[in-house]
Amino acid sequence: MKILLASSEVHPYSKSGGLADMVGALAKFLARTGNQVGLITPLYRGIREKFPEIQPFDWNLDLPLGESRVQAGVCVRHFEDLPLSIYFVDQPQFFNRAGLYGEGGLDYSDNAERFTFFSKAVVNLARYLPWQPELVHIHDWQACLVPILMLHQKLHEQWATKPPTCLTIHNMAYQGSFPSSKYGLTNLPLDYFHPGGMEFYKGLNFLKAGISYADIITTVSPRYAREITTEQYGCALDGVLRNRQNALAGILNGVDYDEWKTVANPYLAHSFSVDDLSGKVANKADLQQEMGLPVNPEVPLFGTITRLTDQKGVDIQLAALEEMLAADLQFVLLGSGSSVWERGYRKLAMRYPGKCAVRLGFDQGLSHRIEAGCDFYLMPSRFEPCGLNQMYSLRYGTVPIVRITGGLDDSVTDISESLDDADGIKFLEYSPRALSKGIRKALVLYKDKGLLEHYRRNGIAKDFSWDRTAAEYEQVYRRVIPGL
Ligand code: ADP
Repeated sequence: MKILLASSEVHPYSKSGGLADMVGALAKFLARTGNQVGLITPLYRGIREKFPEIQPFDWNLDLPLGESRVQAGVCVRHFEDLPLSIYFVDQPQFFNRAGLYGEGGLDYSDNAERFTFFSKAVVNLARYLPWQPELVHIHDWQACLVPILMLHQKLHEQWATKPPTCLTIHNMAYQGSFPSSKYGLTNLPLDYFHPGGMEFYKGLNFLKAGISYADIITTVSPRYAREITTEQYGCALDGVLRNRQNALAGILNGVDYDEWKTVANPYLAHSFSVDDLSGKVANKADLQQEMGLPVNPEVPLFGTITRLTDQKGVDIQLAALEEMLAADLQFVLLGSGSSVWERGYRKLAMRYPGKCAVRLGFDQGLSHRIEAGCDFYLMPSRFEPCGLNQMYSLRYGTVPIVRITGGLDDSVTDISESLDDADGIKFLEYSPRALSKGIRKALVLYKDKGLLEHYRRNGIAKDFSWDRTAAEYEQVYRRVIPGL
């Protein structure tokens, strides 16, 4: 198959969360099974300097954006050993900035312009790239105008061979909502601005446009696919999704084990495996030292790596830790996000020196060391479309403590579900009390070395490899590519 992907972030070029990991891996694994794959993403600041393999591509974009025209170049990275090309849209005014979507906690005021332009660039490449993609797979609201723009070109601009489109929703909470005055940026007639199309309570909603016009829709876990058609999790678009239920599938994300590995990992000083966990003990000592905590193998070490947003259950985690840090345990956090939550964690660390250590910022290397060095990983999300860190934890022999929601439920097994397969601790109620109870269960488990090893072995052995996930996406593509 010939697949063109489009995403506003792609690991290792740009990343704010799991979207980047997922798209980077999907492209690679689809290409590994012989598909021809292109991937379009913005050329953000610093990417070219970091990846000298990226070359200019003979392609000039000159596209209408409302009443103006905007020009851009395209750069490309080809891979010798894979049928994969990554195209970077080079529009410095839009993308050569300090942040991906905003700075200092505020979104850029021209995000509608930036990502309408990006979507138009995707459509241009989809239509004119000589290798003629058979399907365009877009990710999240930033690329969600692509299906409607493509449809319009098919109906009114003689694009008879327009390929079908697939939308993957990574998080319903981010929809790209803008005032209706931004509709002119699309240069579409008003025909698409109605409640069955892009309009949402008189404003514009990019995600809704994607859901309404993509040929097929996926989201990143089976449970989240069910949840988002309910009022509780649908973020006001549950009705739109129920209308498209027949086109909606949930596919659990995979883990890129080329990157998330416990042997020969450049970020880890000590390798370890299911048969020899001594390296994990050494990584724990290193992590305690790196985070300024007393180096002590006996004390259970808990960790979290997260965007500090309401979604991640930060409020119940702070409250539960207030109580639980009185016990004999240590906790490390790596995170960035809302200044309220950053302050909350800073204060917690000041109140519990020697027990709680907090690092605010984004640090890929430290995220691996926390996964490897901790005994338990806390993930009490309010909702979680898939979640990757609990899967990384399992592979790193770190027992995840998760709330029963979305992909957390699909990827972790509690002892109440199966003693044989247990690899984590799950709780349902969204409250500090329920999370504290989970932490208490972890403290009991930590004392039972035999059972702890059983959990660790199960977690390490669990297989979330991308081969399965990529194969499921191929099946979905086959449903809509004509003639396959
Ligand atoms: P989400 O996409 O909602 O943020 P996921 O669990 O799906 O949550 O993915 C988060 C990804 O971002 C993981 O790879 C995680 O390690 C990474 N991450 C989040 N915050 C940080 C941080 N402060 N430093 C390094 N990596 C981070």
